[in-house]
Amino acid sequence: PNATDFLLAVEDLTVSFDGFKAVDNLSFYVDENELRVIIGPNGAGKTTVLDLICGRTRATAGSIRFRGRELTALREYEIVRAGVGRKFQNPSIYEDLTVFENLEISFPRGRSVFGALAFKRDAEVIERVEAVAESIFLADQLNRRAELLSHGQKQWLEIGMLLIQQPDLLMLDEPVAGMSVAERVKTAELLHRICADRAVLVIEHDMKFVEDIAHKVTVLHQGKRLSEGPMHAVKTDPKVIEVYLGH
Ligand code: ADP
Repeated sequence: PNATDFLLAVEDLTVSFDGFKAVDNLSFYVDENELRVIIGPNGAGKTTVLDLICGRTRATAGSIRFRGRELTALREYEIVRAGVGRKFQNPSIYEDLTVFENLEISFPRGRSVFGALAFKRDAEVIERVEAVAESIFLADQLNRRAELLSHGQKQWLEIGMLLIQQPDLLMLDEPVAGMSVAERVKTAELLHRICADRAVLVIEHDMKFVEDIAHKVTVLHQGKRLSEGPMHAVKTDPKVIEVYLGH
């Protein structure tokens, strides 16, 4: 494949920790508006792949191109500015602030993130905060302190804090962990809507949820790509069955 034809092109990516290859010569390609899910057993290297893409971990070898631009030499904040948003497993929201304020301080304003509250609430910010709150099912919770939200609502709020920055690629690590069935259904709906405007890369263990959301699945095993394709093809791949049932 030609790397510049894709939104994200990961090629021959490798990272070694004291000689142990957590990610081993991995290549995969993500299209615009694609919802890709990475699955694989514990220790397969899924989280490390997201860490490499967002610049938290440095690659030992290989390349990560985003809109044709090489990311492997950039710092984390430069990768955020290039349009890559990452949500970690535990929500990092400001518990003492309201939903509105959490979204407002996430609005991109150059460098002064912590000066943001002192800024005037201009119409553009309010408009975007309200639109995002609506999409994450929190329109009627704007004045609620974040600590009072349910676990699922906190996860949505953190997704909202990323959406307000309008990333071109949103990466989520187990977005439905700990959520109720009803919240999972709404999260699937949210992710479908999100990828109308951008690509989404998700790590997920809940196979029912993967079936509901994935356009394509990449299966990792021991840092390598074991299989890839639509879920119906991947789940009947003998290599995948062996890895999942053999452990
Ligand atoms: P997954 O997310 O698929 O469960 P991880 O990416 O967390 O897998 O980990 C892959 C492997 O790399 C594991 O064996 C883990 O112990 C190892 N690993 C991850 N990060 C580090 C690190 N910073 N130092 C040493 N080993 C690491």
